[in-house]
Amino acid sequence: MKVFKFGGASIEDAEAIKNVGDILQSYKDENILIVVSAMGKTTNALEVVLEAYTSQNGKAFEYYEALKAKHIETLKQLFPEHHEIYAIVNDAFVEIEWVIEEPPQDDYDYLYDQIVSVGELVSSRIVAAYLNMLDLKTVWLDARDVIRTNNTYRDGKVDWEVTNQNGSEILPPLLKENNFVLTQGFIGGTSENFTTTLGREGSDYSAAIFSYILNASNMTIWKDVPGILTGDPRLFDHVSKIDRLSYKEAIEMTYYGAKVIHPKTIKPIQNKSIPLYVKSFKNPEGEGTIISNESEVSYPPVVVVETDQILLHISTRDFSFVAEHHLGYLFRLFDKYRIKVNMMQNKAISFSVCVTNQAKRLKKLIAELEEDFNVRTDEGLELLTIRHYKPEVLNSLLEGKIILFEERIQETIQVVVKDIPVMRRKDW
Ligand code: ASP
Ligand code: MG
Repeated sequence: MKVFKFGGASIEDAEAIKNVGDILQSYKDENILIVVSAMGKTTNALEVVLEAYTSQNGKAFEYYEALKAKHIETLKQLFPEHHEIYAIVNDAFVEIEWVIEEPPQDDYDYLYDQIVSVGELVSSRIVAAYLNMLDLKTVWLDARDVIRTNNTYRDGKVDWEVTNQNGSEILPPLLKENNFVLTQGFIGGTSENFTTTLGREGSDYSAAIFSYILNASNMTIWKDVPGILTGDPRLFDHVSKIDRLSYKEAIEMTYYGAKVIHPKTIKPIQNKSIPLYVKSFKNPEGEGTIISNESEVSYPPVVVVETDQILLHISTRDFSFVAEHHLGYLFRLFDKYRIKVNMMQNKAISFSVCVTNQAKRLKKLIAELEEDFNVRTDEGLELLTIRHYKPEVLNSLLEGKIILFEERIQETIQVVVKDIPVMRRKDW
């Protein structure tokens, strides 16, 4: 029993879905639970629909119709004219219409989950129907019937006990009667049957949850890169693939912002020692990266770049020291606004943190902070992290940059940098 996860890029259009069909042909006699993301950039497009709807700028229907039309276009390239999939996809999309017809009253995060989850509900229907058309015996599963979360919308916390229970009742008969069970990543359901999402890029995590509850023999994430690389190939020319990675190294990499897998993915599979493969859907024969208890003897330097960083310098107004009770209060506020602290530094009368610029939440956070503290911000920064640090790698990354913040823990170095203003570089 295996678990596969196909991300948005692997099913972005008809051509890509056909490729997934080709890959799965070579597994046709196996039992696999398949998790899919929304097609291509659908989640982003649904976020745009939601923004238009909540701001009531009059464009929500137009954006929605465009996204739906794109899906229908894909359907036409995959299915004959009178296939039942057209009505099924239409029914899934109608859920959005029902929401955006009425003026927005509900909580933003709740609305987000009701609208954005439709991306996966639709894509999973399409891929399941396509596999059946290829005579790959596939049943569509509503992930919300298995993955139970609390009602923290946009960041649902999994109730493992109920999820396990649901999984052990629902999944075995489906797997017995079919080769493939195909379901959605990213979404779950509450005890009152409301839809939740698990956080952006959460489909990897969904696959890990299914792997855990099914005691999968292994899990594979199919991506558009050959495996886990030493840096982002869009940013660097000379990256190389890491063949074997320990769970610990993988969780460290994702903690520092490596986007290759969702940070929550590792824990469930590590807890049951399930090997995780990261492979390319463009080259399914390739070895990829295997993440397991075993590791390389030594790792090459791995670079993670996070852009759009902001430093918040928080200081007391009366020159009093930043003490433990302040820190406790500050961290409760970060938690309240779901702001992840990427780096921090405590000084006598000030405390500085590096966070990713999430404008809406940060604005609220800063407003609340300013009730008690002075807050100064530095924007437009980059956070560079090098694992298995080598000085020459850092030096070349720092060309043309000024360091604002620096921290080194064992073999990891992190620096927050900004570009040197052109004027400062002139020799005069
Ligand atoms: N479709 C969701 C997203 O884009 C979940 C995922 O792809 O992992 O964030
Ligand atoms: Mg992803």
